[in-house]
Amino acid sequence: MANTPENPVDDRRAVRVEIDRVSKSYNNQRVLDDVSFTIEPGEIFVIMGPSGAGKSTLMRAIVNLEKVDEGEIRINGLDAFKQQTHKLMHTAIVFQAGGLFNSLTVEENLGFYPREHRLYDRKTINEKVAYTLRILNLEGCADKMPSQLSGGMRKRVAIARSLIIEPRLLLFDEPTSELDPVSAANITEVIGTLREEYDMTSIVVSHDRELAASIGERVALMGSGKVVMLDTPQKLAESEDPEVTAFLKPSINCNNPRFRQNLAC
Ligand code: ADP
Repeated sequence: MANTPENPVDDRRAVRVEIDRVSKSYNNQRVLDDVSFTIEPGEIFVIMGPSGAGKSTLMRAIVNLEKVDEGEIRINGLDAFKQQTHKLMHTAIVFQAGGLFNSLTVEENLGFYPREHRLYDRKTINEKVAYTLRILNLEGCADKMPSQLSGGMRKRVAIARSLIIEPRLLLFDEPTSELDPVSAANITEVIGTLREEYDMTSIVVSHDRELAASIGERVALMGSGKVVMLDTPQKLAESEDPEVTAFLKPSINCNNPRFRQNLAC
């Protein structure tokens, strides 16, 4: 079916995101350099790359938290630089820091936004909170305060809170950073399974190779503001492009005398 603003992508809730020739500079440094790609409805799409590659800037541009110098971003054909579009698409973001209210319980954190914005009546909010807690296996800590939870659990609460508005587009900002490997694997699995319950498009900004390999359906590898390669994780892993391998398979120069001396390589 045609993807036009009047007819936003068939009858799916999940949205299509089109990034079209987007460029952005900070103080003469081009941090996004003519970036174009399309994220399909329902995809789990990973934007990865080294620090400073422009991932966060692009993510902020998608959700209209950042102005760009050139180009367009469209969500189901609608202008992503208009707040109304995000209201319509129920865009939600799981920020790296989580942004939970420390003085509210887990349950209260989940209900806070819909209550403040009177999105639903009281009974519906309670039902949605209970449902979301169940989906994310958080029922046991509904009455706990965020400070009583581990980093991984707090991340799950942050994800649960973003799901309350039933997003059609959900973005994750470095969801596994600052987590131990077990918690990181758990959060990765949670993100991968959410699609069974929610018809939405997920964009995950991350430098976590494990995450990209296990749940990314397609991955855009960014470097110096450009898309170095966009393909499935498998194709990326098979690539022999030096820019790709430099990120995916970083090697230590064993010929460095200091390295030899210290580690008897
Ligand atoms: P990534 O998320 O891949 O680490 P960013 O998008 O955060 O990369 O940053 C890309 C580049 O833009 C970096 O060199 C960073 O220092 C620069 N940058 C990001 N935000 C700003 C800003 N508000 N002002 C100036 N430079 C910025």
